Amino acid sequence: MDLPALEDLGHGITAIDTGFVRPSFGASHLVVENARAAFVDVGTGYSTPGLLAALAAKGLPPEAVDYVILTHVHLDHAGGAGHMMRALPGARLVVHPRGARHMVDPSKLWEGASAVYGEEAMRRDYGELVPVDASRVLEAPDGFTLELGGRPLVFLDTPGHARHHFCVWDEASRSMFTGDTFGLSYRELASPHGAFILPTTTPVQFEPEALRRSIDRLLTYLPAAMLLTHYSRVTEIGRMAAELHERIDELVALGQAESGGRDRAARLRKGVEALFLGWVAEHGTPLPADRVRELLALDIELNAQGLEVWLDRDRR
Ligand SMILES: [Zn+2]
Repeated sequence: MDLPALEDLGHGITAIDTGFVRPSFGASHLVVENARAAFVDVGTGYSTPGLLAALAAKGLPPEAVDYVILTHVHLDHAGGAGHMMRALPGARLVVHPRGARHMVDPSKLWEGASAVYGEEAMRRDYGELVPVDASRVLEAPDGFTLELGGRPLVFLDTPGHARHHFCVWDEASRSMFTGDTFGLSYRELASPHGAFILPTTTPVQFEPEALRRSIDRLLTYLPAAMLLTHYSRVTEIGRMAAELHERIDELVALGQAESGGRDRAARLRKGVEALFLGWVAEHGTPLPADRVRELLALDIELNAQGLEVWLDRDRR
């Protein structure tokens, strides 16, 4: 296996490209302390060989990995968990209490995602889901603390993107592993004003109030960096948090404005696209609109779908 793109972030943390969708789309983070290792998020089943190659490149054997940590069980973060656990004999899988059973028996997860993407695309994009032995699963409720080679990692329940989502606070680097809670920051969309940030409303558990509270809770730790799955380290946290709040408001307002009548799905998709392109333009990103539309195509589709699910849930 070729070595994937790696970025050394200091404090024993390495960002590894999981190869999902395109370069710099999905990151796994490897944390090493006193020759003990943990992965935070693992991409899909297709990402596993690259993550293991990255581990070897750091001079560590599979036996050095104590934990495979999943911020949440969406398949771009957790699809490869079973493959990783097969390859890492000493590892425990650390997952939110609401996500744990889906890792032991991934059939529901597979069915749910197949309903959104279709079976064929599932196999092509995510590969097979491998169940994890229940005895190797460690559920991490709010406030749970692990020690990795003596280095504490604290787990915070952070609903809003998904109810099975936690963020992980690493005091040693003053970094927060945020999964998708602190939005998405594709590197291609950066401008002279810095990194671009986008909240995500993907199906099926977008909850705007919970998401706002979770973002604010992350800020109380005064992090030096947020480590996003899409894509890795950002540091202008105050500015980005304010933009996330504004943009969540705008997505909610769009959903409410387009909630009734015919062609709701198409109107939401158009509305999300207009918002996203507007934010990128406002940010001063030096890319043509067609390229931006291409980079955000998947997010436009999924965010529109997620708003629909939220609107339907809210009405009940
Ligand atoms: Zn994701």
